[in-house]
Amino acid sequence: MEAVQATCDNCGKELVPGAAYCERCGARTRRARRLVRLAIRVELVFFLGVVAMIAAFVWIYWGQN
Ligand SMILES: [Zn+2]
Repeated sequence: MEAVQATCDNCGKELVPGAAYCERCGARTRRARRLVRLAIRVELVFFLGVVAMIAAFVWIYWGQN
């Protein structure tokens, strides 16, 4: 695990522990950026799962007629 980020990458201001954004310039912290990437990935997997389910349903539905 990387150490907790103590200062802003963008402007160098000290960050509040656990902060998602810099108080001065509004830049996202590394931890927040990682969480956003993770959330996008989870969303993509979920979306692909829904598409696969719809495709399977359509395939089964048309296969029975
Ligand atoms: Zn900053």
